[in-house]
Amino acid sequence: MECEMCGKSIATRRHDVSGTVMNLGACCAKYGTPLDSPAPAGSKAAVTQNLERRATRMTSRSVYEGDTLDLVDDFGARIRKARERRGWSHEQLGNKVSARVPQLHKIEAGQLRPSDDLAKRMERELGITLLEKVDAGPAAVAGQNKKAGGKAGLTIGDLLKDAMDKK
Ligand SMILES: [Zn+2]
Repeated sequence: MECEMCGKSIATRRHDVSGTVMNLGACCAKYGTPLDSPAPAGSKAAVTQNLERRATRMTSRSVYEGDTLDLVDDFGARIRKARERRGWSHEQLGNKVSARVPQLHKIEAGQLRPSDDLAKRMERELGITLLEKVDAGPAAVAGQNKKAGGKAGLTIGDLLKDAMDKK
């Protein structure tokens, strides 16, 4: 191989010399940027590498934080509706999930947050979702939007259902 800068017979590597690819030996390597080594900071390739690294980091963080369960905001309405759909009294539900009736009244009114254990028992017995995964990644933003939209729809649904129940 021959250095394209000075013509010396030497092992060469591809280098970027002001936008032109040249085969340079160690003698003239300082005049260009090696093309086969990590991209220099600030170059387009370096930015891409950084983005890829960041995406990987965010993904692994989401997976980690995805283990966190959080009680849904409208847990009371969900429990009441599911219980009424099954035609269960507070006493019947209380027997199934080992909860006291006054406790269930407060929970359905949203005045008392059920413990995770109680919420899980109610999820099982009523076939509803009370605990949702929370994470802070990009998926969480979409999840939050979905949650907000679902809540708005549910409020209208609640109003309709209440109106129909009163008839
Ligand atoms: Zn040279």
